[in-house]
Amino acid sequence: MINPNDFLAAGQQLHGHKCPAMPLGLRAGAAAMNALGVDRAQDGQLVALVELGDGHCAHCFADGIQMITGCTFGKGNIQKLGYGKFGVTLIERATGRAVRVVPRAEAQLASKKSVFFTEYREKGIPASQVPPALVEPMIAQVMGAPQEQILKVGDIHQHVLPKPAEAFESFVCPRCGDMVITKYGRDLGGERICQPCFDAARPSA
Ligand SMILES: [Zn+2]
Ligand SMILES: [Zn+2]
Repeated sequence: MINPNDFLAAGQQLHGHKCPAMPLGLRAGAAAMNALGVDRAQDGQLVALVELGDGHCAHCFADGIQMITGCTFGKGNIQKLGYGKFGVTLIERATGRAVRVVPRAEAQLASKKSVFFTEYREKGIPASQVPPALVEPMIAQVMGAPQEQILKVGDIHQHVLPKPAEAFESFVCPRCGDMVITKYGRDLGGERICQPCFDAARPSA
């Protein structure tokens, strides 16, 4: 069993400020891992599909998911589905076993009525500027609430992923001198160059 409390301090360090959404990501990630009975991904053993969109509240959730599951932007085993929702589907790559976990809407609605949101975040004040006396109890609430009170854990199902391919071939762009992964190169009159140099060489449309 993975304990989300073991990842709180590291998660806050990664994330940069204290807020309730990153801890909610820790809880959701832990719930998914415990449902599947899997360990944190050292490589690409797990894949996380997060339903977040762009530019909306509680994106911070994704950093909690990255922290606890080991599904990270750098390893490429986390994907954003762009639904504007807070669900996460965690998949064990070797078996295709998967589970979707989503914060309960009631719990999220209650959190949105808090002073943290109404007096600070919705008025454009960054989370780092909110007094700790307001944020700390919200974090404690998220970290301490019974799982079934804040999260819905779905049934274990099959989610087959395409085989991961890792490209190692690269070339040096003759125009800018940067290294480029070969499949991202573009052909301009027989010259193999990078995308930005290709874009710069074309007459603007
Ligand atoms: Zn945050
Ligand atoms: Zn270039």
